[in-house]
Amino acid sequence: MAIYKCFQCEKKIKSDELEKRFVCPHCGTRIFYKPRTKMKTVKAD
Ligand SMILES: [Zn+2]
Repeated sequence: MAIYKCFQCEKKIKSDELEKRFVCPHCGTRIFYKPRTKMKTVKAD
């Protein structure tokens, strides 16, 4: 399981939460990155 971080509110989100709905449960943004890699952004569309 991967952990992503919200690009906007910077909260951690599990990848299985994103499988249901690819939005941040805290702020609703759709841009995430993996904290341990080089700021690689993941966009929904
Ligand atoms: Zn967020």
